[in-house]
Amino acid sequence: MGKMMRAARMHEVGGPMSIDTIPVPTPSAADVLVEVKACGMVPNLGNVLANWTKWFPHLPLPKLPAIFGLDPAGVVAEVGVHVLDVMVGDRVYVNPLRSCGGCQMCRAGERSRCRYFTFNGYFGFGPDSQKIYDIYPYGGFCEFMTAPQYALVTLPDNVTFEQAARFGYLGTSYGAMKKVNAMPGQSMLVDGISGTLGLGACLFGLAMGMTRILGTGRNKDLLARVKALAPSRVEVHALGEGSTHEWAKALTDGEGVDFMISALGPGSPASTMVDSLQAVRRGGKAVNVGAVAEMLPLDIHWLMDEQIQVIGSNWSTSAQCQDMAEMARAGTLDLSVFEHQRFPLADINNAISGLADRNGGFSNYVIVP
Ligand SMILES: [Zn+2]
Repeated sequence: MGKMMRAARMHEVGGPMSIDTIPVPTPSAADVLVEVKACGMVPNLGNVLANWTKWFPHLPLPKLPAIFGLDPAGVVAEVGVHVLDVMVGDRVYVNPLRSCGGCQMCRAGERSRCRYFTFNGYFGFGPDSQKIYDIYPYGGFCEFMTAPQYALVTLPDNVTFEQAARFGYLGTSYGAMKKVNAMPGQSMLVDGISGTLGLGACLFGLAMGMTRILGTGRNKDLLARVKALAPSRVEVHALGEGSTHEWAKALTDGEGVDFMISALGPGSPASTMVDSLQAVRRGGKAVNVGAVAEMLPLDIHWLMDEQIQVIGSNWSTSAQCQDMAEMARAGTLDLSVFEHQRFPLADINNAISGLADRNGGFSNYVIVP
């Protein structure tokens, strides 16, 4: 019998994870085996898993029993014979974005536009996703996982595994900022700046030389913490205390921001997003990475007159994740703001059933197998 490992597996939708002992997989020729050191998780993952099939039937979960775990980081333990750029012992983040690799979009480096686009260890974006799960059945909530070479992001020594386990959500914000060509000297408005995605956008704005970073949120204590990151460049506004776009325009000489990032969660009303959208300057852009679920009444005539683009963005490429690792290596991206809450694999059900004392985006929840 080969080597065995522990894996947290969900056997029925909404049911608890059980810690099962299963064989350590062998990587195929183009894949590597990664020993997982930390795997990030969204707070309230249990609720998401329990309701996902009802809320979003078009976004399928992997066949059960399944190993979840979206954002793993660890050490390469074994490489397939066709793997040239990665060595045993390399510290890596494993981008969970899987795709076919052979279609026009994949070959153009746009893997999230592939019909097989699937989040390893979470859910897929279409009926073909199970084919990906058949090839890559291991999420990050286990001791060893297989991963394709294209998913790996090499980590500098000054990025911890816990920090790297945040790269997926950081990358979602960074990917949005690449879509709007964020540049030094620009201004942006981040709706939901103190949350998981919004705080990431703020950190990249600071790293990329943006001079005016405007952000909204509900929790004033958290907003104050965000402003304290760079008091001369960050301005914050509490939602519900007057119009966001009037506030933002007043801070940008009446002109508006170069772009807006909507990082508000699914429970947020469409009216909040419409208000913030109006803060965008003529020719500017708005990107949605949160998950506002209400239908949006859009003034399409105004979008035309002002030549404003509204963009949907989803996750980031492994190359963009490598950008982030390099910014952290250089010291321009500050990842020290995160407060890590670590849970051993055996505690996974406590960890995923909802966590108290959250400090918004500053909290970082990781499973340490
Ligand atoms: Zn493809």
